[in-house]
Amino acid sequence: MTIAEHIAAVAGGASVRERAEAALDRVGDDPHRAFLSLDRDWILADAEQLDARLAAGESLPLAGAPIAIKDNLCQRGTRTTCGSRLLEDWVAPYDATVVERLRAAGALLFGKTNLDEFAMGSSTENSAFGPTSNPRDPSRVPGGSSGGSAATVAAGHVAASLGSDTGGSVRQPAAYCGVHALKPTYGRVSRRGLVAFASSLDQVGPFGATVADIAQVYDVIAGPDAGDATSADQPAPSAMEVLGAGVAGLRIGVVRSCLEQADAPVAAAVEGAAERLESAGATLVDVGVEHLDLALSAYYLIAPAEAASNLSRFDGARYGLRVEGRDLAETYRATRARFGREVIRRIVLGTYALSEGYADEAYVRASRARTAICRAFDSVFEGVDLLLLPTAPTVAFALGEKTDDPVAMYAADVFTVPASLAGLPASSSPVGEVDGLPVGAQLIGRRFEDTTLVRAMEVLSS
Ligand code: GLN
Repeated sequence: MTIAEHIAAVAGGASVRERAEAALDRVGDDPHRAFLSLDRDWILADAEQLDARLAAGESLPLAGAPIAIKDNLCQRGTRTTCGSRLLEDWVAPYDATVVERLRAAGALLFGKTNLDEFAMGSSTENSAFGPTSNPRDPSRVPGGSSGGSAATVAAGHVAASLGSDTGGSVRQPAAYCGVHALKPTYGRVSRRGLVAFASSLDQVGPFGATVADIAQVYDVIAGPDAGDATSADQPAPSAMEVLGAGVAGLRIGVVRSCLEQADAPVAAAVEGAAERLESAGATLVDVGVEHLDLALSAYYLIAPAEAASNLSRFDGARYGLRVEGRDLAETYRATRARFGREVIRRIVLGTYALSEGYADEAYVRASRARTAICRAFDSVFEGVDLLLLPTAPTVAFALGEKTDDPVAMYAADVFTVPASLAGLPASSSPVGEVDGLPVGAQLIGRRFEDTTLVRAMEVLSS
């Protein structure tokens, strides 16, 4: 059920309302627990409004296609929980810019999806409201942190969804669930209304079952926003316009060290993807990117440092839950005790990384490593247009397998964090299977060359 199919059905006389009812029926009782809120009455009322806009002759590029939204993006009037007890009853007073743009383009906003608490995690098991399961094998994780958004697209319940990616959270769940996802260049898509995790890394990105779905959503959400000071002040080229352009003439660097680090069958599937790009006219070269081995530790200092600072606003005074204590300090403590274990771990780690006497060894060193990684990418992109590597070292792991081992959990992000640190566009495309579980291939592009990724994603899906 792609966006194009929706557009055709609605052009052929179907109503958005009847399409919405069908989508709600498909979700049923949400067997994968992909949603944190899915309000039938709201959705049907929105669908009727879209029908009225169509009847009034308005042109709606997304024609009422159901699009699910990760529950760390504000949607006016709906709970925006971030998967946290602290925001369990917090209702967003405004629409995130991306949500506003989807609404204007005629998307049917279709529920809020499950995530690791405050987007911290790689499996959606850190959600305070219970994990999402992988539609391809319900005993496995869907990846994270945007697990609900990936799972609902993989299950064929919605046409597309939005997630957020700070260190891999759209790419890794897309790989585990067998769908496409794109993390745009940092600054390409507005972060206004995305609840901040690590502000120098966070970026909103779409999931889709097809590359055309990704391109359609990208074209709606990308572009400057005066409401986000880090939004790039240049128009976004259209991803729809490059569909069909192919990859002839592109030079693609295969990141050999990452293939060697991945499970052998995962690496073999990515090799297969490389061959497909080559038969479509791309030139393959083996490349190395310097300092990639520093990325995971740099990320797990920088992201927690920013998170510790961003999350200090959840103190019971202004947003969400307030657990009353005898005095202010106790109120803070009692409120913050409701954060989950992983969030507390990140706040402690981040506070340590920034504290006087330790910052030089931790945050400052990590920032230097980040600069070195950025330069290494700049130099490799002098010789190639895109990089190809696995999205994750393994296929989806079992629910519960890594919950007691944070370091093993963090290692699932080893191939996704480098592009995040450098702010580069990166995607994941399904390119094969290992024992029935999907394998994702990651592409990384030059800054602001998001549409080059789309060209290669399309070739990988053909
Ligand atoms: N898994 C990574 C983390 O836990 C990335 C999360 C994300 O991109 N939101 O930080």
